[in-house]
Amino acid sequence: MPIALVSHCLLNQNAKVSDGAICPGIVSPVIDLLRERGFRILQMPCPEFTFAGPDRWWQSKEQYDTPTYREHCRELARAVVDEMVVNPLAVDPSAVDPSAPGTEVVVIGIDGSPSSGVDLVTSAPGWRGEPGRADAWTVVPGRGVWIEELEAEFRSRGLRPPRMVGVGMDLPGATPDSLRLDLESGLAG
Ligand code: SF4
Repeated sequence: MPIALVSHCLLNQNAKVSDGAICPGIVSPVIDLLRERGFRILQMPCPEFTFAGPDRWWQSKEQYDTPTYREHCRELARAVVDEMVVNPLAVDPSAVDPSAPGTEVVVIGIDGSPSSGVDLVTSAPGWRGEPGRADAWTVVPGRGVWIEELEAEFRSRGLRPPRMVGVGMDLPGATPDSLRLDLESGLAG
């Protein structure tokens, strides 16, 4: 049975930064699709919420890219990989090894997020944090800090990192239904 390591906010929109939620609670169309495809769903922790709390300010990848935040992400990543190893749902030992034949482990990230982006992140290299310029960002190709550290943790255990699929929750115009389309496209790719 395939395993989906799901970004925290897909199951808990209350973790989003202010104004970032696209619906109350769970992004049901995304979770429904994973259920329809038979995935075991494991919710990952939110790296930003556990680092800076619910009232954190919007930030770019450059602002989150600090040694302290990376260490925080590494600590969470260790727990995520540990959970896969000991989770009683992973009854097939090969299920924790994404490189094992027939195993499907997919990380569902959030494109546009400076932490959880898979293919796209928020960037503002010239922004020094002035609140009045908080919208001075662009979306550029790249992995978020959390996703980079999660991949590195898999490699440090001798495991090939899982396939990464991003849904564009932190991109303009995102809706629960558009995220389902993103996931369908990502799983097909
Ligand atoms: S995108 Fe990542 S960092 Fe942002 S709220 Fe969701 S889980 Fe947390």
